[in-house]
Amino acid sequence: MNTKSQQNRVCSGCKNEFEIDSGDFPLYEKIGLLLPEKCFECRIKQYLAFFIFGKFRKSVSDLSGESLITVIPENSRYPIYKSHEWWGDSWDAMNFGQDYDPSRPFFDQLKELQEKVPRPHQVGKNNTNCDWCDDTWNCKDCYLSRSQDDCENISYSYRNFKVKNSFDIVYSFNLQNSYDDTFCHDSFNLNFSENSKDCIDSFFLFDCRNCQNCFMCWNLRNKQYCLRNKQYSKEDYEDLLKNIDLGSYKNIEILKNEFEDILKNEVVHRENFNLKTTSSVGNCLTNCDKCVNVFAWEYSQSCRNSIRGLFAKDCIDQAISWHDEVSGDNSCVYGGYEIKHSSWSNARYSEYLDLCDEVEYCFGCVGLRKKKYCILNKQYTKEEYEKLKIQIVADMKKRGEYGKFLPYSMGLCGYNLSCGIMYFPDTKKDEILKQGGYWSEEDLSQTDGISSLQLPDSISDTESDISLQALICPETKYRFNISVAEYEFHKRKNFALPRLHFDQRIIKKMRRLEVLKSYSSECVYCQKHIDAFYPLKWGYQKIACEECYKQNIA
Ligand SMILES: [Zn+2]
Ligand SMILES: [Zn+2]
Repeated sequence: MNTKSQQNRVCSGCKNEFEIDSGDFPLYEKIGLLLPEKCFECRIKQYLAFFIFGKFRKSVSDLSGESLITVIPENSRYPIYKSHEWWGDSWDAMNFGQDYDPSRPFFDQLKELQEKVPRPHQVGKNNTNCDWCDDTWNCKDCYLSRSQDDCENISYSYRNFKVKNSFDIVYSFNLQNSYDDTFCHDSFNLNFSENSKDCIDSFFLFDCRNCQNCFMCWNLRNKQYCLRNKQYSKEDYEDLLKNIDLGSYKNIEILKNEFEDILKNEVVHRENFNLKTTSSVGNCLTNCDKCVNVFAWEYSQSCRNSIRGLFAKDCIDQAISWHDEVSGDNSCVYGGYEIKHSSWSNARYSEYLDLCDEVEYCFGCVGLRKKKYCILNKQYTKEEYEKLKIQIVADMKKRGEYGKFLPYSMGLCGYNLSCGIMYFPDTKKDEILKQGGYWSEEDLSQTDGISSLQLPDSISDTESDISLQALICPETKYRFNISVAEYEFHKRKNFALPRLHFDQRIIKKMRRLEVLKSYSSECVYCQKHIDAFYPLKWGYQKIACEECYKQNIA
């Protein structure tokens, strides 16, 4: 008899009761994980302490003195090397190797090691001219953007895959020449849009598919020349569009407010926004099968309790992880098989790693590359490794350490500068400090510049020298510039210049993708009860169950 599924547990983090889904047990067992002591949200919250959002700043390499741009905050607990130096041969993480001391907690020893090993100024590899970026992989000519793979010539963007020649794009796939989009797929010249796919030359679309030359439309399929969901002739559409001034900031604000009202009152929202996904529970899943309690996840099978990942199979309890299999309790793992309790690593048959690349059979290591049978960055023979690992696991079990994720005290920055604060904006300093984490008190605001609100309303009243003007964001008080490329892009498209700092633009767009639980709702057509992923405060009036949505929309 399986009584475990009925068992209610008290979360060691928030102290609320939580339940472990009966479907989780086989996967915990297969991967070799102990049952979690924290609820789903508290687990994700801790994983995100290992993912810096931060604010780009200038600094120098602790190895060469070479200047660099990084999101790693000042006074971090570890040295910073320039990325190419970190991946180079001029240093060896094995030189920081430590003997295991059975008289002390293992996490203390691992943290000590972590503080000695340098970190690259940006995460990622195989990039060309992407110095002012972070978490960047296989990209070219990107600027002030984070979390991107196979992108080219994009700026002020976040979490994108195969996006080119675009600005201000969040969580999108295969876009070109586009601006200010969130969760869009396979589109060209798509602007100010959300949740749309296969669209061309359009503006302010929500949940449209295969539309071209459309403006302020929602729930449309295979349309052309529609404005506010009304069909026009090509000539009439073009005439109407000529009278809409996207170069005026005031007008853009009015249009954005109209778009928000449409989202609340007109759009039929499908209970979730999963695409090409089967037998799954969660939101923003694309090409997934049998994924449960998973959010913003792609091309994966049989994953559970995870957020933001792709190309994963049989994984559980992960944040921001990809290309891994039979793995769990990880944050920012970018490849692996049977990897557990780790962060920023690509490994096989390993546990408690941070920043390790292509290692296998390693335990509690930091910054290693292509190693085998290492513990605390020291080399052992296979036999020695196995013996010592058994001893450490036994000691960790006695201290209640084993099976837990890397502690908050090993987090990479003040929690308020981590991605955690995007998903858990109400997190309080005390709560994080109590768990051994960090909080940044640094004031990142600046005053030497003009308020961006003083810019002329219309882009046509500005010249290219605007790029030289230091601007202060009215919301964050962060200083920013309109880059030369950004000015040219906006001028070519005749789009008003932004008034907010680029990070604030990203954070605002991300809000729609940070929902990690469902809300009880009712289908607007059949009144059936549904679990939809739209908080009540968003005020969405029309939410449809999967079947009714298919019948009525597509
Ligand atoms: Zn909790
Ligand atoms: Zn229905």
